[in-house]
Amino acid sequence: MKKEISLILSPMQAASAEMYTPEVVKASGIPAQDITLIRVTRKSIDARGRNIRVNISFDVFTGEEPGPPVENTFEYQNVELKPEVVVVGAGPAGLLASLRLIELGFRPVLLERGKPVGERKQDIDMLESNHVLNIDSNYCFGEGGAGTFSDGKLYTRSKKRGDISRILEILYLHGADESILYEAHPHIGSDRLPAVVAAMRKQILACGGIIRFNTRVTDLNISDDMISHVTTLKGEIITGKAFIFATGHSARDMYFLLNAKGITLEAKPFAMGIRVEHPQELIDNIQYHCRKDKYLPAAAYNLVEQVNGRGVYSFCMCPGGQIVPAATAESEIVVNGMSLARRNSPFANSGIVVQVMPADFRSHQNHEGLAGLRMQELFEQKAYRMVSSGQHAPAQRLNDFVNNRPSQNLPVCSYLPGIVISPMHEWLPEFVADNLKEGFKKFDSKMRGFLSREAVIVGVESRTSSPVRIPRNPETGSHVQIGNLFPAGEGAGYSGGIVSSAVDGENAAVSCAHYLTLH
Ligand SMILES: Cc1cc2nc3c(=O)[nH]c(=O)nc-3n(C[C@H](O)[C@H](O)[C@H](O)COP(=O)(O)OP(=O)(O)OC[C@H]3O[C@@H](n4cnc5c(N)ncnc54)[C@H](O)[C@@H]3O)c2cc1C
Repeated sequence: MKKEISLILSPMQAASAEMYTPEVVKASGIPAQDITLIRVTRKSIDARGRNIRVNISFDVFTGEEPGPPVENTFEYQNVELKPEVVVVGAGPAGLLASLRLIELGFRPVLLERGKPVGERKQDIDMLESNHVLNIDSNYCFGEGGAGTFSDGKLYTRSKKRGDISRILEILYLHGADESILYEAHPHIGSDRLPAVVAAMRKQILACGGIIRFNTRVTDLNISDDMISHVTTLKGEIITGKAFIFATGHSARDMYFLLNAKGITLEAKPFAMGIRVEHPQELIDNIQYHCRKDKYLPAAAYNLVEQVNGRGVYSFCMCPGGQIVPAATAESEIVVNGMSLARRNSPFANSGIVVQVMPADFRSHQNHEGLAGLRMQELFEQKAYRMVSSGQHAPAQRLNDFVNNRPSQNLPVCSYLPGIVISPMHEWLPEFVADNLKEGFKKFDSKMRGFLSREAVIVGVESRTSSPVRIPRNPETGSHVQIGNLFPAGEGAGYSGGIVSSAVDGENAAVSCAHYLTLH
């Protein structure tokens, strides 16, 4: 038997089973000795007032002990002898597309330019300590894709893109913590995600799927509006009846390739800006209206304002995290954020970005569908030129930036390659700098103290979403022109973030399977 109860507890009471069990027993009215299991089903923090509360729901079981929170009902069958589908890119979209293909009775042939997640970590360490960039193995490329060494936030603004809880269940079944099933804002953390990614790889291989690392797709052949094969950097030709391209928004070479082959691409709006970092304690004090006690997680924020008709907003906020170098080519600087599962670093960082509209990249119109990408590329290269020193990133104190004055010194920052003083108010594109300044002032009126001398901005944040769309037929899910090409995930321009890209990957697999059953 199961009884559902909801309680409002203090952070201390909600902190662990040991702490909440007496409260649950009391509220349920069931004698403690009759209870076989208490399972948390929903948990969120209400920090609106001074008295912070935790809304928490439970299933209280009596009688026979229940099974795990999620039964593995996914039909991961042996597909060794089944028709093959070529999947390019082993990020969330490519991995989840491959798992879904297996369920649907197809054999994924997954091609990934980067290395397995363990080896990839070594390249990331080299990047952070020695500024050595491997263009196929870095924060964006390699097994698990861009989100592997990230904050691992698993929430998405979109509610329309399919079954999000299905994705959370798959991640849980591959080793993610049970809390992702009930937390209002679930996250995994950079220290846990690689193991989940490796477990998905093992699942694909155990079913007879094929995974090829260090295999960058560099060419493709089209005849009669169909892709007949792709070619790899090593010259290998890989044929297939259908192709899922899930190469992410950082694979510019893939966009150039598709464009060179005459495949329709569209420029789309995106956003650019900087990353701001505060001491976590300062953000905790603002958000919790008091000194944070040890039972509360590092506080997050989510800010959005309209400035001069444009959105200025926080992006990928990482409480207790670290700013990381996310460039994928030499001579560019790109920053992003990550955190460990415990989110216990002394820093809080977030992208703060300004909406970029098609009119902003009008001067790059000759690049047609790649006009926005060209603008993004130049922005990142400028950030590099302003410092011209490996992966050192340009930085300025936040209040100096807002007041148009150069910084004399910088606070300690989590960015491992190191930051260098730069007058960013002078060289950021005018519409970015001006709207950021106004946006920061408005943020400060919502979160008093945000505009602090202790805060630093680090440049540049430019990979918020894809500046390119690979347009799909809404009925079939295939490219509008190439019938057996199924663009998926963030690189296709239809998703943003780990979960929505995973959902999009699953949907691409379903569309592809449908196509193959008809042809
Ligand atoms: C540092 C960082 C932190 C982030 N934090 C979060 C977060 O906390 N929460 C969140 O929701 N999102 C986060 N994101 C964004 C998230 O990672 C992406 O939205 C998501 O990974 C997109 O999934 P995808 O599968 O579409 O593409 P990607 O993850 O970009 O995967 C594409 C894959 O394709 C491979 N590839 C590219 N070109 C080729 C080629 N030519 N041949 C073969 N393989 C190729 C790449 O190596 C890569 O593995 C973060 C991103 C970064 C960089």
